[in-house]
Amino acid sequence: MYDWNDLRKRDARSVWHPYASAVDVPEVFPVVSAKGVRLTLADGRELIDGMASWWCAIHGYNHPVLNEAVKAQLQNMSHVMFGGLTHPPAIELAELLCELTPSSLQRVFFSDSGSVAVEVALKMALQYWQAAGQGEKQRIVALRCGYHGDTFGAMSVCDPVTGMHHLFGQTLQQQLFAPAPESAFGAPCNSADIAAMASLLSENADTIAAVIVEPVVQGAGGMRFYSAEYLVQLKALCEQHKVLLIYDEIATGFGRTGKLFALEHAGVCPDILCLGKALTGGYMTLAATLCSDEVARGVSASEAGAFMHGPTFMGNPLACATALASLRLLLSLPWQRTIEALEAGLQEGLAPARSMSQVADVRCLGAIGVIELHEPVDMANVQPLFVQRGVWVRPFGKLVYVMPPYITDAEDLATLTGAMVGVVAALPAADR
Ligand SMILES: *Cc1c(COP(=O)(O)O)cnc(C)c1O
Repeated sequence: MYDWNDLRKRDARSVWHPYASAVDVPEVFPVVSAKGVRLTLADGRELIDGMASWWCAIHGYNHPVLNEAVKAQLQNMSHVMFGGLTHPPAIELAELLCELTPSSLQRVFFSDSGSVAVEVALKMALQYWQAAGQGEKQRIVALRCGYHGDTFGAMSVCDPVTGMHHLFGQTLQQQLFAPAPESAFGAPCNSADIAAMASLLSENADTIAAVIVEPVVQGAGGMRFYSAEYLVQLKALCEQHKVLLIYDEIATGFGRTGKLFALEHAGVCPDILCLGKALTGGYMTLAATLCSDEVARGVSASEAGAFMHGPTFMGNPLACATALASLRLLLSLPWQRTIEALEAGLQEGLAPARSMSQVADVRCLGAIGVIELHEPVDMANVQPLFVQRGVWVRPFGKLVYVMPPYITDAEDLATLTGAMVGVVAALPAADR
């Protein structure tokens, strides 16, 4: 039915893939459908998806409940502008997000992608201080090894090295960076970790609008898990120095770390919270930026008298209706037990990698399982090895990791971890 080679040839001629060359075109695998945790390739092969499509498809693919929600909303309208108009899916979703997050977060701004949700958060912070008569508070503090998206504002707060800031030189806003916390998840925060942040804030508070962090798990910047106590101390520092606190839970939201939101590990509430990725269960693109009443009032009192942002597809009804269905589905399931079982399965399945000389670290938290290597993997060689083993695992740098759909059963999870361990074992051994 599909001609594999023809699809690949046409793709290579016209399509540009993420983080890819358009000349030295990378190998890509045509997918024609997906159901449950399986992707079906154009040649009929099936792959167990360990990535949940960049961490979004928490309920798996082609889920009857989500399909139904899309169809039902489609009968009403797929889209309508959000300026001057509103609709039930957006209202209900905003209410539900406010209900599920800490009570001080009371206002929701919808946008179309995670990066834009971060842009919105940064703009809120700047407008807030402008309204407060402290317009010189313009800089953002971020953590090294962080990832917040690819648009200019979001990119400016990504790790400056892996984010390749030098490529964009003068165009990129110069932000301040604190070291990535070294204190492990589950351990207390060592004083050196927070000391660096404390001095950055005390020396520059007059020019700092906000601190942005991914709570507990630094995702695409290194899959690092750090002490929740760091977040408790960071919150105190932000209050002390009058700096807003932004949490980017685009990767960690909706159960991934074992809590509905990672902020629950620390019991800390930020002033602004970014959500995205799994928000619609991976069905379509939608993100949300939540803020406190204090921030909302502040921003609204700024010179513009309004928050100056408004994406064309803001609050898309189809996406909002799907997000509502995905969230209600999640909440109707014993998801905590599911994530615990996934964590146990990942721990057990990845354990054999711990003793391999290629491996620097194996770590699992919630439905995240990571093998960190001493050397970066050669993706062109490694990717086909996973496909041969019937799984979709896409490493980056030194990291071979999975963030599978929550519906992954024990057998499929064992296939995933077995493939990770097997592929890593076949890499050249490190001489150490
Ligand atoms: C993926 C991600 C983003 C960017 O989201 P996009 O939808 O890709 O723009 C921002 N922050 C974090 C923590 C992410 O994981």
